[in-house]
Amino acid sequence: MNVASAAAGISTEGNPPPLDDVERRTYGWQIDLDGFGESSQRQLKGATVLISRVGGLGGAVAQYLAAAGIGRLILAHAGNIRPSDLNRQTLMTHDGIGHSRIQSASRRLRDLNPRLEITAVPENISAENADSLVTQADVVVDAAPLFTERYAINRAAMAARRPVVECAVYDLELHLTSFQPGVTACLRCLYPEPSTTWQRRFPILGGRSGFTDKLAALEVVKLITGLAAPLTHELLIANLRTMTWRKLRTRRLPQCPDCGHLPHS
Ligand SMILES: [Zn+2]
Repeated sequence: MNVASAAAGISTEGNPPPLDDVERRTYGWQIDLDGFGESSQRQLKGATVLISRVGGLGGAVAQYLAAAGIGRLILAHAGNIRPSDLNRQTLMTHDGIGHSRIQSASRRLRDLNPRLEITAVPENISAENADSLVTQADVVVDAAPLFTERYAINRAAMAARRPVVECAVYDLELHLTSFQPGVTACLRCLYPEPSTTWQRRFPILGGRSGFTDKLAALEVVKLITGLAAPLTHELLIANLRTMTWRKLRTRRLPQCPDCGHLPHS
């Protein structure tokens, strides 16, 4: 299935796979959603989502998409579990410390949804692997902690015209938006240059990244099914210290190196 970017969310190509009786029982409560139905559930089953990092942020996106009945997840995350992962990375376990993060994440997701197809990539996204991974996906979720990874995903996604759900957390603040190639701004439009102050280690409360993930997973479902309009041309910023929410308008940069060449659609 391909998701063609559109301001309203969605148009799909192809014929999504049918549901079996177990799937109808499993997803019955969301099939009942107004504007969803079995056709949207089939779209989720036929979709592939690439998630860059399955730590505190991307891991919970993966969990909620697995629970929602997504067909295939491509998960990219390097390294082994550390004690400092466990305040927020809910796909990792204490007895897995010292062992592969991506294997722990895959095992936990299969426990939740044995029908889920998982492609586990024990690497972080880079300029070398971004194109091959992005082109396999219908939607990309960017939950990487480093600008180099985010830029690699953005460039590849704009080139392959794949929508990106961009989510980030810091302290008690969350940022969330969706980039639709040729329609909205992309990451390079918003951040032409990497931050000079960003550090790999940053303050984060476990429950806060999980909160962001639920919104990001919903954004993916909206993009795939058209259930409701995604955050098009808007960057959601929520400050959970003050419980204030605001949305900023985003604009394309005509000279953007990643999306400036795309015709407006
Ligand atoms: Zn751009």
